[in-house]
Order: sequence, then structure tokens, then C-alpha cells
Amino acid sequence: METETKSARFIRGIGPKRFEALNRLGVQTIRDLCYFFPRRYEDRAHFESIAHIQPGETVTVCGEVITLGIRPLKQGSIFELIVGDETGTLPAIWFHQAYLKNQFQVGDRIILSGKAERYQGRLQLSSPEYEQIKQEETDPIHTGRITPIYPLSEGLAQRSLRTAMKEVTDHYVLKEIQEFLPEAVRKKYSLVELPAAIQAMHFPKDSESLEAARRRVIFDEFFLFETILLSRIRSVQLKERAIPLQNSRELLAEFKHVLSFELTPDQEKVIHEIAENTSGEIPMNRLLEGEVGSGKTVVAAFFLFLAARSHLQGALLVPTEILAEQHYQTLKKLYAPLNISAALLTGSLEPSERENVRQRIKKGSVSIVVGTHALLQEEVDFNRLGLVVIDEQHRFGVRQRAKLVLKRPRPHLLVMTATPIPRTLGLTLYGDLDISMIRTLPKGRKNIKTYWISHQKEGEVFDHIRSRVLKKNEQAYILFPIIDEIMRPGITEKSTEDEEAELYTLNAATKEYERLRKGVFRDVPLGLVHGRLLKKERDLVMEKFHKSEIKILIATSVIEVGIDNPNVTCMVIENAERFGLSQLHQMRGRIGRGNQEASCFLFGNPTTEEGKRRLRIMTKIRDGFTIAEEDLILRGPGEFFGTKQSGIPFFQVASLIRDAELLTVVRDEVKQLLQDDADLTKPEHAFIAEEMNYRKNKF
Ligand code: ADP
Ligand code: MG
Repeated sequence: METETKSARFIRGIGPKRFEALNRLGVQTIRDLCYFFPRRYEDRAHFESIAHIQPGETVTVCGEVITLGIRPLKQGSIFELIVGDETGTLPAIWFHQAYLKNQFQVGDRIILSGKAERYQGRLQLSSPEYEQIKQEETDPIHTGRITPIYPLSEGLAQRSLRTAMKEVTDHYVLKEIQEFLPEAVRKKYSLVELPAAIQAMHFPKDSESLEAARRRVIFDEFFLFETILLSRIRSVQLKERAIPLQNSRELLAEFKHVLSFELTPDQEKVIHEIAENTSGEIPMNRLLEGEVGSGKTVVAAFFLFLAARSHLQGALLVPTEILAEQHYQTLKKLYAPLNISAALLTGSLEPSERENVRQRIKKGSVSIVVGTHALLQEEVDFNRLGLVVIDEQHRFGVRQRAKLVLKRPRPHLLVMTATPIPRTLGLTLYGDLDISMIRTLPKGRKNIKTYWISHQKEGEVFDHIRSRVLKKNEQAYILFPIIDEIMRPGITEKSTEDEEAELYTLNAATKEYERLRKGVFRDVPLGLVHGRLLKKERDLVMEKFHKSEIKILIATSVIEVGIDNPNVTCMVIENAERFGLSQLHQMRGRIGRGNQEASCFLFGNPTTEEGKRRLRIMTKIRDGFTIAEEDLILRGPGEFFGTKQSGIPFFQVASLIRDAELLTVVRDEVKQLLQDDADLTKPEHAFIAEEMNYRKNKF
């Protein structure tokens, strides 16, 4: 069924010029106009008594025209009228709009809205919006109500557009807009009917009806977005098959038996969620989000274990060699009593060794492979790859992710990230991924006290390290992080800029290492580690650090991701003002992993307000999800989405941050709906399909 929708040209007051201006804003049809929502509203429903008006206030007054007239200026003229109510009188003036004289007559009842200003000792309204009240029951348009303020472009004026929109609201909405949500859904979520909602979006009776309308419109935006997204995903998934991983109570018990700790309730929960996918034939695409230190690795380890028990192979892909090495060690230890073989494959293996590992992967004599990008190379040929886990997802480009997933049969995919993407944003960014979240840290984690300090006070910090950290036999990091792609989303391959940045921080770190080694910490074993060290050298430093033979590790951002050493209780971050919130949070997550108090010092002298705000947030907030949301607010979602400049954006009213909860609810509802009626062919869903088509073409 296809409703015809007429050109916006048919609306009284929209001539060729205004039509063209509207076109530039993405509006062609009357239906588009219905969805052309106000940018904001002004509450002009409450009338101020003239006697109570204070200078500087924006007010709406209602009264009678007492006098009016034109004063000529050297150029142009001023039209002035005086309005009076029971409490007093107030002049209003308009420049160069002599024609207004014919619009008003003494004795007319009018409403004026504008800012009261003092001019030559008296209060007046300058160019207020006006409305005549012809009869008591007329519905005012411009003032005397919650008034819509529309986005404008050249050739569109607020007043005439608003008048046209009133025409649309009164005479066209009911014809153009039809309810598309099934009655049951509308009832379930107490949503107002769509035509009424659209009307109230433009000319709401009161703030409650506006709120209800907004809720309906937001619901629709999410609902249609998810329907489009999920049905697209479905159609892809239907074609692909994965091999189910075995799972059972016994297998879980077997795995838990080798752990030295109990799983947290959140870990149990996500294991359950992930298992629902892995035991099916539809390839899993799941994002596991978890606060740094929340224990994602063990969750991954469990499913890799299941892959092995299912006579399949599992791959764990990580962004850095240090992290690969660390995960490999962890898994090897964990899997030894379970009789599962693990191997490490990184770029810095000797060629003969690498060849050897490749052969074992190919023969299938190794079950679990931990590796860096080297794993993505074509010549790595798995025997029976059943599960791919990608750690620190944000470090990999979409293309790299795709490479592994292109293998056939298609392995299940679990991506993990600690760069906490607010759930809602995750749904949009990684639209094709289901999401699991670990929100709570294992018990006993202590707070990380975070301080923002100017570099000049480094003496105090070094004192702290000596007297509070080293004395307790704990360790510290001093970081010189490199600005990386987190700050510049979209860039995944290394550029020369990256190299320069790396070189710069490398120099800074080396200098600092020398300075401290010969200075304040001359009696303390220090280590330096950076991306340009040979693997052997780096391994040696890291090993010493893990054994606590090195007490303070000075490092570039190589340690930023994933490194797990619970004995480190202090971190200093240099040039902290240069980093994004999420990145700072990520780095800080390297400490506070044990049971001791930890402290983090941010050295930085930010010059911008935003920079200061970032560091202030870091000192106050530990929770990564809150931080991520703050980050999003500071940077704006545009950076995440790549803003579309023309046309009406998909989320006109909804905010992915503010309305986060609703999006998750809607997503579940849509999932249910599609499970029920994948192609939306049931009669009660016919209108949804139609509405989807309209929106699809629009965005
Ligand atoms: P992340 O989620 O940042 O990758 P890790 O997986 O590295 O975190 O886990 C951080 C630390 O917490 C590790 O030392 C790990 O052994 C430990 N850990 C994980 N789960 C638990 C648990 N349930 N109880 C206690 N410690 C745990
Ligand atoms: Mg990790």
C-alpha cells in the first residue's frame, strides 16, 4: 500500500522561493513538513503583568493596544505601539516595518513576546513577536502558547514558516500521517497516537503533551532504525553458517575448577549470553564491553576452551606484542591442566619458528592461537577455526576484523573492548553486534585516587612514589603516551604522523628515563620500554618488571592496553592534557588491579576549557561508562558518526545519550517483532514496512 504524499508547494504560504529554501533543508513533501520539527520551543503561554517586568527579562504580555504610530528616522522609520494591561503600559517598537501600522488598531487585544530592555530610562520591547486575538477561542500561533522555533535557512522567516506549519498541523497531519505501530506496542509503552504526536510536536497544548509527543517520536526513530538495521543483519546472517560450540554444565565446572577465583555475577551473566550464540549455527557477532580490569580475559578463555573441547580451533587476536605475550602466558598456564595446547604467533618470531607454528595451526595440532596482526596474514591457514576473539576491539579496523571473519565456515566472533562505548552508541556503531556488558569489577578492588597536578610539582609526586609506593614494595608506571587513533577515529593504518608522534614521545620518555636514573631515583631500579625496542630487549624488561626487579617502568603507550600487573599501584601520566577521556581512563585501568590503594597523577597544563574539564572529570569519576558518556558529550557524537550535513538526520529528536535506556528497550521489542514476523508480512505490520521505506529513502 502506498500513500501519495503531495508536494509542500500545496501549502498556503509556501511559494516557489520558500519551497526552494525548504528543499535545501531536506523538505520536499507535505509529509516531510510534518516531520520538520522545531529546533526548540519558547514558553510564551504565561503572561507577565506589565508592572512586574524586569529589564533583561524575556516576557510574554497580553493586553490592549492603547496607541500606535510611526516615527520617521533619517533612514526608514520606527513603528511603535503601546500595550496596556490591568497593571500598566509598555511600549513596543519595530524598526523599518511601517506596514505593521495597518495590522493593528487601537483597542485590539494582542499578545507580545520579546525581551524587555531599558531604553532612555523606560522599559520597552524591541521587535517582539506578536499575535492578535480576534476572538477568545482562537488558537494563537506565535505567542501566548508554547511556541515552536523552527530551523531556518536563507529565504525562510520564522513567522511565515510557523504560519505555514500551523496550516499543515491543522489540515494535513491527519491525512498524511497514519499510525504504523501495532496497537499492542502502543499500549504496552503508553505511546500517544502518531498523528496527535506530530501535531503536538509543532503546536503543543502544554508541556505535558509536548513531552508525550517527543517520547512517541523518539520511540519511532529508534523503532524504525532498529527495524531497518536488524532486518538487514538478519538477511546477511541467514546465509551464513557457523559450527556450534559444545557447552554444558560439566564443561563450565571443569573450567571453573582450574580458576583461582570465583567468577563474578557479571562474568557468569555474560558467559550465559555469549553461550546462547555460540551453541547455535548462526555465526555470533558479539561485543563484550567491560570496564578495564573487569576480567574479560577469563570469559574469552572459557569460550576458547569450549572451541577446543569441540575439536575446533580458537584464535585470540590482540593489538600489541606485549599483550599477546601476556595473554599467551595466562592461557598456557590456565590450559595446561585442561590439556589444551596454545601457541603464540607474532611478527617478531624467528622465521623458522613462525613457520613451525603455522604448520601446527594448519595440521590442527594446536587448539588455541594467540597473536597480533600476524594472525591476519593470508598464509595463516587454520585447520578448523571455530571462534575468533578480538581483544581491545577499538585498535583494529573494520577491514581487519572482516578478514578473519571471511574464513569458511564462518567462525563465531567475540570482540572485546574496555574503551567503554556507551551501550547505545555501541548499538549504532557496531550495529551488527550484540552487546554484553560487565559492569562490576571483581571484589576487593580499591579506589584509585586521581590527582591533576602541574608538572612543577613533580617533586611531591616523586616523594609519594618513594615513601608510599616503593616503601611498600609496590611498583609504578611513568607514561609518555602517544596520541593514537582513539583521538582520531577512522584512522587505522599507521601514517607518517603516527611515526612522528611516536618518535617524539620516544625521545621524551628516553630523556626522562635518563634524568630520573641519574637524579631522584638513582638508587632505584628503573626500566624503559617502548615500541621500538627489539622483542628480546622488551621481553627482558617486562619480565624484570613483572618479577619486581624493576620498580619503576617508564614507558610509551605500549603498556596502554591490557597489561596486567596487580603490584603496580601508582601511575604518572605525562602531557595528560593531550589525551581523550577514554584513553586516559584506559591507561589508568592498568593500576588498581590488586587489593592495595592506588594513585594516579595526571601531569598537565591544559589551555582550553575542554582540556581542563577532561582532567577534572578524571579526578572525580572512576566508572568507565560514565566517563565514556562525558567524553561523548564533550566531543559530540558527530565525530563518531560522521555527520551528514544535508537532509533530516535519522535521529532528529532522540539522543543516544539521554534516551539510552529507551533504545535498549526498543531494540528488544524489535528483535521480538522480527522473530515473530521476519519479513513484516502480517497485516498488522504492513504499515511498519511502509514507514521503513519512507525513512530509508529519507536517510
Ligand atoms: P580486562 O577486562 O581489563 O581485560 P583482565 O581480564 O585482564 O581484565 O582481568 C584483570 C585481573 O582480574 C586479572 O588479574 C584477572 O586474573 C583478575 N580477575 C578476573 N576475574 C576475576 C574474578 N572473578 N575474581 C578475581 N579476580 C579476577
Ligand atoms: Mg584485557
